[in-house]
Amino acid sequence: MARDYYGLLGVDKDATDTELKRAYRKLARTYHPDVNPDEAAQAKFKEISAAYEVLSDPEKRRIVDLGGDPLESGGGGNGFGGGFGGGFGGLGDVFEAFFGGGAASRGPIGRVRPGSDSLLRMRLDLTECATGVTKRVTVDTAVLCDGCQGRGTNGDSRPMTCDTCHGRGEVQSMQRSLLGQVMTSRPCPTCRGVGEVIPDPCHQCGGDGRVRSRREISVKIPAGVGDGMRVRLAAQGEVGPGGGPAGDLYVEVHEQQHDIFARDGDDLHCHISVPMVDAALGTTVTVDAILDGATDITIPAGTQPGATIVLRGQGMPQVRTGVRGDLHAHIEVVVPERLDSHDTELLRKFKEHRDRETAEVRSAHTPNSGGLFSRLRETFTGR
Ligand SMILES: [Zn+2]
Ligand SMILES: [Zn+2]
Repeated sequence: MARDYYGLLGVDKDATDTELKRAYRKLARTYHPDVNPDEAAQAKFKEISAAYEVLSDPEKRRIVDLGGDPLESGGGGNGFGGGFGGGFGGLGDVFEAFFGGGAASRGPIGRVRPGSDSLLRMRLDLTECATGVTKRVTVDTAVLCDGCQGRGTNGDSRPMTCDTCHGRGEVQSMQRSLLGQVMTSRPCPTCRGVGEVIPDPCHQCGGDGRVRSRREISVKIPAGVGDGMRVRLAAQGEVGPGGGPAGDLYVEVHEQQHDIFARDGDDLHCHISVPMVDAALGTTVTVDAILDGATDITIPAGTQPGATIVLRGQGMPQVRTGVRGDLHAHIEVVVPERLDSHDTELLRKFKEHRDRETAEVRSAHTPNSGGLFSRLRETFTGR
């Protein structure tokens, strides 16, 4: 059943726009959260606001008059219990039309307020990310003023109630609008919303209770961090106005690209070029691994182009657990581009020996171990 929007506003079905406005305004004065903070009143206020939103929109009102409900999305509506909330898009406009900007009365904002967080970037190379590191950094934030300890006053002087707003922190003015007289309020320009002023401010901070300061601190970065990760240092951020509690300092890691290894989460990837003959006969290659130093990688005889050799547990440590990812060595097989007469002779002999092996055209859909397609796949799945 459709909601009775007319009934909610207490108007007849042929009510004019003016009558709607008048009815809504009258109800809003009773149920607005500023006037009536209890929950039932708030729910009622939402209902009447929704009703006004619907009936003041000619298109939506037409739907209501046809027996429909423009705030009901899809069928099966069951009044205000369900389906509500979805249709509240335009409510802000209704608020603003009647109450001018923020509807809520703010009152003084308080001189002492929490400080904001700050962010610092730190460049680390892959080895530093793998091992963790402690670095000294220069931090530039607001700190507590030691002249007044945050009070903002000079010596024993005290703050005074603001004359302009009489301590309320905001000033009100009456404005005429389409909807009649509307009371608007804005932060007091004299005290900037605080409600009090400091006639004799501290000479060091000018009354703000904090001063800017540059200092050096030690930051411990855990092993396993990666690009974009943030390390939080509690209460090392900006001290707030009036010496309010400091925000946090975040150090964001910017991982520099490594010459050899590409990182994918906790895994590391590198490419190894193996001469054709070594791929056929097998060989050992030494890699300077990030955490393990010189590491031998065995390339077995008959290794194909595009093959991947995985060294389990030789990747990056995970920040939380320390468990290490894998090291993936992607094998490229290099065919000699130039052959001298001696090489040519040897390869001819080799070919004669394996004369059954010839080039063949294969279906592009047949899986191929090694070869072009698997290499393309590596390129896409690798970093
Ligand atoms: Zn004021
Ligand atoms: Zn001070």
